Amino acid sequence: MKTKVAIVNRMGDPFVIEECELAEPKEGEVRLKVMTCTICHSDLHGIRGEHGAFEGSATGGHEIAGIVDTVGPGCTYVKPGDRVLNSLVREGCGACEPCLRGRQWFCENRPMLPFRAPGPYTRANGEIPIQTNTCSTGFAEYTNTPEWNLVKLDDDIPYAVGSLLACGFISGFGAVLNRCKVQPSESVAVIGCGGVGLSAVQGARVSGASPIIAIDTDDRKLEVAKKFGASKLVNPKTESAADAVKSVARGYGADYCVIAVAGEGMKRQALDLTAPWGLVCLIGHRLPEQEIMSDITAMEFMHGKRFTGSAMGAVTFRRDVPKYMEMYRNGVIDLDSMLTRHYPLDKINEAIEDAENGGAIKNVIVIGGLE
Ligand SMILES: [Zn+2]
Ligand SMILES: [Zn+2]
Repeated sequence: MKTKVAIVNRMGDPFVIEECELAEPKEGEVRLKVMTCTICHSDLHGIRGEHGAFEGSATGGHEIAGIVDTVGPGCTYVKPGDRVLNSLVREGCGACEPCLRGRQWFCENRPMLPFRAPGPYTRANGEIPIQTNTCSTGFAEYTNTPEWNLVKLDDDIPYAVGSLLACGFISGFGAVLNRCKVQPSESVAVIGCGGVGLSAVQGARVSGASPIIAIDTDDRKLEVAKKFGASKLVNPKTESAADAVKSVARGYGADYCVIAVAGEGMKRQALDLTAPWGLVCLIGHRLPEQEIMSDITAMEFMHGKRFTGSAMGAVTFRRDVPKYMEMYRNGVIDLDSMLTRHYPLDKINEAIEDAENGGAIKNVIVIGGLE
């Protein structure tokens, strides 16, 4: 079928909107009518080659909510008309050894598709753009995706909220709940107060953490973090983050520190402000060669300090997303306030500019509609 797609002609270019031919869904694949796709910083890293260089044109967008249009052979979970969210996270097969041990991320039967592989679209000039985000393209009217990358969206959950639950929110919130497993009265510091960091702040609030320390060099972002539950705001431009955190975290430092921004300097800062027994949890990153830390000594870990990472909130996909929908429904988490502005697909470059420089938390590309 013919469908409109946002394409970058080369790495780093702005998007152009073009009509392309979309292939029929293959075995195990579903064709989605995209309703909304929120903009994630990973999309910007992706199309700029900051997660890996690529040749030729590319598509993006991975925080997708939509409606199942058609299903390919072998699909069993959804049918045409179902409301779904589409994520990089896969539902594991449930039968292989990693799945049976609760490690669906490592499912042996449902491998993660490669980043920057050719996608399902053919341009008028015959070129096949790569997909920057493995399994689908959200900045398009229609996309194909493996069925195992879908979770059904409850009828009362708006599509834009579904988009948040596909990546940005779960990445921060899930890191606190699933990886850190924060307990009431434990202290949590969050470095970086973008969409992922604010979701981590919400995770800390829901976990009963105290204090919750938000760290960012932008005072406006810190004020927003306060609304989502931060009890202490630290701007490292005006004070030492380690000293400020220790002053409110029993003199030792934070029990947990979530890093929701890229760059090796952030990792050093996190290790310095975390208690000797604390856990540093990494989410934000650029290319591996930009994240090498040469100044860590093994001695830093002698008293039990740990350093770990969390991809996509370490969620178990179809178990956790329904729980988060329930929390949203009951007002336990605030997702509406994280959605800043709406843009149509042909204004995607403006939406990105605003996401980077206009103080937006999450901008929504509205393609098929909000309801
Ligand atoms: Zn994302
Ligand atoms: Zn499996």
